[in-house]
Amino acid sequence: MSERVCLVHYHEIGLKGKNRSIFENQLVTNLKCALRDTPLKCVKRICGYILVTFEGGATRDYQDLIGKVPGVARVSLAHECPRDLAEYSHDAIVSLGEAGSFSTFKVHAHKSSTDYPVHTLDINRQVGAALCEAFPDKKVDVHNPDVTVHVNVVQGSVYVYAVSERGAGGLPVGTAGKVVTLLSSGFDSPVATWMLGRRGAICVPIHFSGRPMVSDTSEWLTQDIVKALAPSGVVGRLYVVPFGARQREISLAVDQKLRIITYRRVMFSVAERIARIEGAKALVTGESLGQVASQTLENIAAVDETVSMPVLRPLIGSDKQEIIERAQQIGTYDISCQTAPDCCTLFMPRRPETHAKRDEVHEAWDSFDHEAMIEDLVDHIEYVDFDQCPSYRPPRKLRVRHEELAPAEWEKKGIVSEG
Ligand code: ATP
Ligand code: MG
Repeated sequence: MSERVCLVHYHEIGLKGKNRSIFENQLVTNLKCALRDTPLKCVKRICGYILVTFEGGATRDYQDLIGKVPGVARVSLAHECPRDLAEYSHDAIVSLGEAGSFSTFKVHAHKSSTDYPVHTLDINRQVGAALCEAFPDKKVDVHNPDVTVHVNVVQGSVYVYAVSERGAGGLPVGTAGKVVTLLSSGFDSPVATWMLGRRGAICVPIHFSGRPMVSDTSEWLTQDIVKALAPSGVVGRLYVVPFGARQREISLAVDQKLRIITYRRVMFSVAERIARIEGAKALVTGESLGQVASQTLENIAAVDETVSMPVLRPLIGSDKQEIIERAQQIGTYDISCQTAPDCCTLFMPRRPETHAKRDEVHEAWDSFDHEAMIEDLVDHIEYVDFDQCPSYRPPRKLRVRHEELAPAEWEKKGIVSEG
């Protein structure tokens, strides 16, 4: 009797030479975390694959969950059986039967364990013959088949599958350091966050809300976005900065056309402070060139000069349609469709500057005590922890301080805000 299992394929890790086992171990850890609500039996490395087994057998739902984990190139819902021709031929017939509509097929045998005496060409021939008998109206095409039935002999078992799903690709989260991502509830920044996570970075989003000048809806939407990203395990903690009162001060001190740039300079400065506390090495935004007034080259430069760490903009060359398609795929689209006032909608100028001049920006910047404002915002930052990213380690400094500052009404609402 064979058992349904998931076989995880991970191309890119293979390129990483001697770091390979670090990457594989991280992927195993991340898979265990992503699958903790399933009846998981084991996740283990076997000869260039990761084998995932479940009580009661693997299903398509579990296969989908595995595919969302960064580092997974492909995932196959395979049959695991003993090294017995009759058994793996039978599983090959079942696998081909599950492959949907097709006209041509081939068998591809592969051996990762050398003590099985049957040659792969013989496995191809023998299993091929069984399939021809079971599917008399289908043809073998060894060059360009519609479906390939894989028969992998690995250690004492044989894994048979015909259908593989593409995974998220990239690298396991936790293998590329940490970044702080500026997260709004719009379409772009959740996608930017996911993209950095997919390249192996632990993501720590920071959201600026318009509280207390507007409702806290945007804070709830960003939390929903983080929850939607849970299957990929990229986010450890969400920081929330109530920015409304400070924006009001800026709007009173600064010429209206320079307000957005000034808000953004403060936002980037606060994010950089948090990044240093977190040990993160870069900031990430969802900006794309020319999308809105603040995203011209001049304005990007006028904001970037306030920080000394790299600012990564993975969507800078993307079109909105591409971003929306990705948002649909990662499950954040429906949340981002809901509009909520946040700091971006508050005290907006009618005609924002699109080509900021340095000396005007500096004059605006020096017209209020920006240092004191940044420090105060960092001091009053709030956070919510999400236990979806196993490699996230919270900074000691904030752990202590924010135990005391944890906002009471968030705790009442049942949001985790542990120290
Ligand atoms: P998004 O770009 O996420 O769809 P948006 O279009 O409302 O949201 P923009 O004005 O395009 O925001 O802002 C550009 C980038 O600045 C965002 O992608 C995000 O990284 C950051 N940002 C904007 N608003 C906020 C906010 N309220 N809190 C944190 N970061 C923000
Ligand atoms: Mg945007």
